[in-house]
Amino acid sequence: MDFQVQTVLSVSAVVGMLLAALQLLAGWRLRKRCLFIWALANLFLTCGCVFFAARASIGLPASALIGNGCVLVGMGLVYSGIRIFDERPPRLATVAAVALLGTGLLGLSLWSGDNITDRATVISLLVACWSATAGHALMQVPGGGPIISRVASSIVLMVVAAGYTIRGVGVQFALMPLPGNGGAVEVLIAIVGLGLAICWTFGSLFMVLEKVASRDDLTGLLNRRSVLQRGEELLRFARARRLPFSLLLADLDHFKSVNDRFGHDVGDLALQRFAALVPQSIRTNDVAGRYGGEEFCILLPGADAKAALVIAERLRGIVEAELGEVAGRDIGVTLTVGAATYVPGSSGADTIAGLIVAADGALYSGKAQGRNRTAVAVPPVGEAPSAPRETPGHGAIAAGPSR
Ligand code: GH3
Ligand code: MG
Ligand code: MG
Repeated sequence: MDFQVQTVLSVSAVVGMLLAALQLLAGWRLRKRCLFIWALANLFLTCGCVFFAARASIGLPASALIGNGCVLVGMGLVYSGIRIFDERPPRLATVAAVALLGTGLLGLSLWSGDNITDRATVISLLVACWSATAGHALMQVPGGGPIISRVASSIVLMVVAAGYTIRGVGVQFALMPLPGNGGAVEVLIAIVGLGLAICWTFGSLFMVLEKVASRDDLTGLLNRRSVLQRGEELLRFARARRLPFSLLLADLDHFKSVNDRFGHDVGDLALQRFAALVPQSIRTNDVAGRYGGEEFCILLPGADAKAALVIAERLRGIVEAELGEVAGRDIGVTLTVGAATYVPGSSGADTIAGLIVAADGALYSGKAQGRNRTAVAVPPVGEAPSAPRETPGHGAIAAGPSR
């Protein structure tokens, strides 16, 4: 290959700075802290490239110690950013500890009769560990997604992890040339590394954009478009596997009066508190979204009518217990839920639109019967009309006390 490894590393440094600038700009405009952390990660990786490229002029100990230290911090920050993206603590102390451990081992090796093979193996495996940990964290896709950009970014990080593992093991067993020789393999590694850094950066940007576009600003739940889209996907899956699928429409009772009596800011706080309560009552694979105003849509893949009623009642009970007081005000908010279920193998409606209509009818009936209750659409959408389910009122069974 005609390229010098120093040339590729210098190009990588320039591209790395541009990628970091792009992330900073996006982080500033979208107000996302994870993008600032990922920009910092790219700057550390860029610094690493600069120190590796300047090896001839600054000497081996400094370039190896600082260069590899920067790479370890950079990869650790990629993981920290993912944790922030997932609203979890960033674990910066672990990032610093791993970087100190790596550079400490390097230092020991450099000043005790340098063993370049062990040095290359240790650093490669530490970078591979960070990359695999970050890729694994991204694979744990929450119910609300984003799915495609998350999985794609995870694959990029897993490829990096595999590459560094191969390098660490290959060097140790003399199957690959040692780093620092400037040969064709090293040039190739630098070019592939640059390509992967570009893929990761755009993948992470896409992840953030997808999340911002799919979430409701006030509550952090999925917005209407996204929850309906997710519903179509989950229902298609349920139909293909012949599994039941339930949908809840949950509406906060007399919410207008909360705004009227306590102001919109207290109303907003109550909506946020409600959104934070939802995960306590639904299962990990269930998906919740804000359908509109004070109305929420909850998707329950695999849940039949009985399971849906249990989940809805749990949510109603939690709201009754926890939303009585918000910001020191006795708002006494309760919840009415309408539930509809798709039953596989039946000739009834099997679309999200059909389930929404059924759940909305049940919700209306629950409101009419006094609110603070769960009403189930009967018969569950798609269930044979001859099903042994006698129900009172407007085609709904109602649970929970009335106010
Ligand atoms: P019902 O029990 O029949 O559902 O009565 P309700 O008052 O809850 O229903 P209605 O449809 O009459 O009013 C909904 C209220 O929800 C009106 C609106 O001010 C309030 N609301 C909708 N979105 C928001 C929001 O984002 N923030 C606040 N604070 N209030 C909201
Ligand atoms: Mg309401
Ligand atoms: Mg409403």
